[in-house]
Amino acid sequence: MTAAVWFRNDLRSLDHRALSAACANHREVRGVYLLCPEQLNEHIIAPIRRHYLRRALDDLGRQLGEIGIVFDVIDAGHFRDAADHLSEYCREHKIDTVYAHNEWLLDEIRRDKDCIANGIPLTLLDDSLLSPLTIAKGDGGPYKVFTPFSRRCRDHLAANFPTCLRRPQRRAKAVQNAPCPSFGPERDSDAWPASQDAALEQLRDFCAERAEDYRAARDFPGLDNTSRLSAALSLGILSPRQCLARLQQECGEAIWDSNSGAGTWLNELLWREFYRHVAYHFPKVVRGRAFQAYTERIPWPNDQALFKAWQDGRTGYPIVDAAMRQLNTTGWMHNRLRMIAASFLCKDLHIDWRWGERYFLENLIDADFCSNNGGWQWAASTGTDAAPYFRIFNPTTQGQRFDPEGEFIKRYIPELKNLAAKALHQPRELSNYPAPIVDHQKVRHITLALFKDVRD
Ligand SMILES: Cc1cc2nc3c(=O)[nH]c(=O)nc-3n(C[C@H](O)[C@H](O)[C@H](O)COP(=O)(O)OP(=O)(O)OC[C@H]3O[C@@H](n4cnc5c(N)ncnc54)[C@H](O)[C@@H]3O)c2cc1C
Repeated sequence: MTAAVWFRNDLRSLDHRALSAACANHREVRGVYLLCPEQLNEHIIAPIRRHYLRRALDDLGRQLGEIGIVFDVIDAGHFRDAADHLSEYCREHKIDTVYAHNEWLLDEIRRDKDCIANGIPLTLLDDSLLSPLTIAKGDGGPYKVFTPFSRRCRDHLAANFPTCLRRPQRRAKAVQNAPCPSFGPERDSDAWPASQDAALEQLRDFCAERAEDYRAARDFPGLDNTSRLSAALSLGILSPRQCLARLQQECGEAIWDSNSGAGTWLNELLWREFYRHVAYHFPKVVRGRAFQAYTERIPWPNDQALFKAWQDGRTGYPIVDAAMRQLNTTGWMHNRLRMIAASFLCKDLHIDWRWGERYFLENLIDADFCSNNGGWQWAASTGTDAAPYFRIFNPTTQGQRFDPEGEFIKRYIPELKNLAAKALHQPRELSNYPAPIVDHQKVRHITLALFKDVRD
């Protein structure tokens, strides 16, 4: 009998538990991916991410082909029809076991239950996280605050350092898997590594050359010091275990020191885990609700014109505008800028964080529900471990602090390229660049009132 490996957001052949288990237990193995274009259209996936996904699928087909595994990409229409399509696939290919990795969001959990209810012989393995999702506080409850969560994860990892699995050996003559057809409008994503080899090389470079300075340099968008691996991690082209293993290989014991560059980077990987932990244990955030219930009562004014100016990078605040233009032109935004742009939308323009959350999901190459939702709820002060509502980023001083010479701003706002660093963060009366659309000092008082008025 034959086993199938159902690939989801784990598009790699190295360090893949489901693939390794299938190859260890079965003579015949096929790989399958259920493409759900209708679902992708409903959720408005960014054209750049669509292209990136297709490239990643092609690379996975190549990797599997090299070890003699046929890889089928099936058009499953809508996500809710996945179980029917998979049943049919199992019948057609006489599959007796389907191996896959657990996914933790509500719809995914429901889909897997449907598959099992439909008689699909699904074996689910944990693979996508460094620490178990069930990691809990002393009282057995889930964590709501990052620092103790990360401490607990570090202890767990120190005691159970994960090992990476090798790629299964070639089991048959190499096969040529067909390329994945285009499934909607695309935008070129070639600047991002979609192949496993390229992502691994990028990881190696980062850990060897930049991890040490990460703590000092990560907040300065002009320095380009972060790993830029979020897109690869979001599709599972790399596993977090591979990241940790390579980090340890290059930086040794420094990974356990959260004040070192390597330790700080590990912390970022743990933020990723923390937001998955939150989405699993508090599924109301997956249903679009704020974690802090009282903030649901905020009457966000939601001015459409202000929202449009923010989207277009024409707010008159250079760091915000450069951030939004980076997103619009490259499909990615530096983390410090995501925090600044998100704070500005909610706390200066008074627009519901869900509008920004959606815009990011629709435009990011690394769009990831949990990290995006967590980041937005943090910035809007509506989340678990959120910034207190009275801490409001000043977009001018943030620019002065994190892009003092305007190196980054000038890259994305050529209108400002002739200004001296001192004038750059508060440009005045330029014919080709807008004046600030709101007065930060005035609107921050409105924000404080919006929160204060609805607090319990
Ligand atoms: C409002 C907002 C929205 C965000 N939306 C997303 C998103 O859709 N997808 C996404 O992957 N990240 C998101 N993030 C987190 C973070 O901004 C990106 O992961 C990071 O900028 C990616 O760049 P990098 O790969 O160079 O990160 P590095 O600094 O090199 O970090 C390494 C990895 O750790 C993870 N990571 C880093 N910071 C965070 C964080 N704050 N939260 C969760 N994981 C983190 C990412 O997987 C990242 O690739 C968001 C943050 C905010 C504030």
